[in-house]
Amino acid sequence: MHIPSLIERKRDGGLLSSGEISGLIAAYTSGDMPDYQMSALAMAIYFQGMTAEETASLTRAMLESGDALSFPDDAPRVVDKHSTGGVGDKVSLILAPLLACDEVWVPMISGRGLGITGGTLDKLESIPGFRINLDEETSLRQLEEIGVVMIGQTASICPADKKLYALRDVTATVPSRPLIVASIMSKKLAESLDSLVLDVKFGTGAFMKTKEDAEALGEAMREVGIAMGVDTSVCYNPMNEPLGHAVGNALEVAESLDILRGCGPSDLREITLDLAEKVATVDRAQLENWLDNGSALQKFENMVTCQGGDAGLLRDFSTVHPAALIRELEVPNSGVIEMVDADTVGRASLALGAGRGKADDEIDFSVGFDQIAKVGDEVKTGDCVARIHASSEADADIAAETFWKGFRCA
Ligand code: URA
Repeated sequence: MHIPSLIERKRDGGLLSSGEISGLIAAYTSGDMPDYQMSALAMAIYFQGMTAEETASLTRAMLESGDALSFPDDAPRVVDKHSTGGVGDKVSLILAPLLACDEVWVPMISGRGLGITGGTLDKLESIPGFRINLDEETSLRQLEEIGVVMIGQTASICPADKKLYALRDVTATVPSRPLIVASIMSKKLAESLDSLVLDVKFGTGAFMKTKEDAEALGEAMREVGIAMGVDTSVCYNPMNEPLGHAVGNALEVAESLDILRGCGPSDLREITLDLAEKVATVDRAQLENWLDNGSALQKFENMVTCQGGDAGLLRDFSTVHPAALIRELEVPNSGVIEMVDADTVGRASLALGAGRGKADDEIDFSVGFDQIAKVGDEVKTGDCVARIHASSEADADIAAETFWKGFRCA
């Protein structure tokens, strides 16, 4: 394999064969192909794109760079969801235990938050004691016991993606559709799924700003999933305002628990049911029943206990991480809310310390927003349209100023 010739071919718009792609990824993973050659190849892919066949080959090569989960032959259906991420998106915390009430297994491998998008692992770690680093044997035992496990990516899953994603991050090659598809799908396919639902967001608080871009990404991911033998479906959901009323790690766990108790905001409940319905073996009415009768909450509590967390604290979770101060934001005029911009709330929350600017930043579980009003709500002068949870008055001032920039009521 002469690597410069393959880079040259892609640069000039030619096609790479499946064997060539797997050779390149194997060489990159082992260190035989240096970063400077992979950077050039990633940039060539960024400009020239890849066919569906090349994208599937790239996904397979990244998947085969590491281990996939393996399950016994008599295991039930293995299902999961992936979201391209949004502000206030805590669906995984509800959906995974909900699906585990069904006769399926949910081995959910999630990520941390980066930028304005929160991460499921950070939210889970706001539950004191919760461990996200379980080995494969422990995860399998937990699946056999309760049907659900929520963990982080291990070093042996898709090592090629780990290396390539870090390289893309510093070479302006993240926003390439085939590279995104292969990166996301290789990690999900490493869960050896039977069925996968993709929640592709579009709007100001999403990776994809337009529905057209979201559809192109969703369709490319669906094609790869199907090509790899996984029953894959896609839902497209707007992300112009935060999902639910809460943004911030512990605040989002508290809101998820509301849904698991049969209450909580309807947009969050509906989207969770929409997604769950795509991979469940039962109908929507049964899924609703499990949210309303405490079955899904019981699964969540069992999972927390199995993974070392203190399930007793879930009873009144809002007291677990009290912020130093809570400030109410009062609307200056009566009217109907026209905008609560997801991107702006995400940025304000990040500035409060709820997220990370760089991968090794510490996060503050207590901070963020709750009681965020929804677009279409009618309000009167002085009504509270959100509460800021902050660690200092100065942080609250900045968050308030940012929030109002993304808020419109007329
Ligand atoms: N998330 C991923 O895991 N990979 C990408 O390339 C983009 C988003």
